[in-house]
Amino acid sequence: MVSLESCFETKAGDFTERGCSLLGCRVVVCGQVKNVVHLVHSPIGCAYYSWDYRMDTKGYCFTTDMNEIDIVFGGENKLLKAVLLAIEEFSPDAVFIYETCSTSIIGDDIQAVAKKASDLTGIPVIAFNCAGFRGKSQNFGHRIANLGLFNIILDGERKEMVNTVNLIGDFNKKDSEILERLFGEIGIKVICTFTANATIDKIRDMKNAELNIVMCSKSSIFLAELMEEKYGIPYVELNFFGLDNCCKSLYKISEYFNNLNVEEVIHENMSWIKMKIDKYKNILEDKRVFICHGAQRAIYWIKPFEELGMKVVGIATHFGGEIPNFDGLVVDNLSSDELEKILEKVRPDIVVSDDKIRHLVHKMSIPFFNGRGQNRGYSGFEGFLNFAKDVGETLNAKLWYLARDFGGFNV
Ligand code: SF4
Repeated sequence: MVSLESCFETKAGDFTERGCSLLGCRVVVCGQVKNVVHLVHSPIGCAYYSWDYRMDTKGYCFTTDMNEIDIVFGGENKLLKAVLLAIEEFSPDAVFIYETCSTSIIGDDIQAVAKKASDLTGIPVIAFNCAGFRGKSQNFGHRIANLGLFNIILDGERKEMVNTVNLIGDFNKKDSEILERLFGEIGIKVICTFTANATIDKIRDMKNAELNIVMCSKSSIFLAELMEEKYGIPYVELNFFGLDNCCKSLYKISEYFNNLNVEEVIHENMSWIKMKIDKYKNILEDKRVFICHGAQRAIYWIKPFEELGMKVVGIATHFGGEIPNFDGLVVDNLSSDELEKILEKVRPDIVVSDDKIRHLVHKMSIPFFNGRGQNRGYSGFEGFLNFAKDVGETLNAKLWYLARDFGGFNV
């Protein structure tokens, strides 16, 4: 294993491509909550990168469009007007206000504005102090988001419901649908998938669950810790990518509940899936994969690729916190230029990432697969078949080989 600069903090002056705390808070965690208006208190630039990272998000996102005069004289009045207008126009279940570097530096009190707007309208208005400079990367924004949304959970009394869980740290709607079905099969009800299918009401009800299942600790373990401290709800870190991970996770869940039909569900699913997966094995066998994702997918996907007979030859993350134990290259906080050089050297058969680096990989004529699975989920048994199918179809597409023959997509 070769590890280049993994886990180091961003230094002032770094040409880093890491997301800021605002991105971690708004886009990664809060952005999926349904029927909420997201109000970024900033010049328009901070809201530029709104939803393209999370394609299945349908919420409204606005900015207060702070200009020079607002920066000199303060933007609290402008923010309050914007919140009231958003509530009048869209009747949301809540308004989320996000602080940014400029409005934090001038000292706008977004918490006071949120309280005033909430008192005036009776609608929850939650303010997140997630200015970009506050953390070394987007990770600090996750924490701010967890803390802010925990205030919704605190609203009302706990009424414990038997055989219920929350899935915490799953942000893909299709994955959450698959997992909710799978949990239904074993006899468990999912109260809230935080935040892939979250609404304000579902978040409020999270305190009623018997167990929290943390799927991405980087983004959401803090919420599980807060809930354990306040309500005594235990949490367990699990993942459902790949057959082995999925079976182990189901057995682990059965340790917390009585009378689940885990054994039966695993047996039923394994009996059909192995046959279907074998169909793709001749395309996938021995192919070399390079993963460029957040820590959750980067690390959790090593095993599923191996189950398909493939070899992960490298992993790149933007703010990785742990070094996986595998025989390949691990690199963190890399620029596009560095990624291009690495890919030229490693020359994998396929790159798995999200849309941010799609065009770079296309230009190199390397088969590219969007691991976010915008149209289909990759969790659970059902999702693993989607995964094998999508990776197989990507590798099998003649397009890449034609592009290579003609010198790449950029000619
Ligand atoms: S770093 Fe600051 S200025 Fe840049 S997008 Fe984030 S909040 Fe806005």
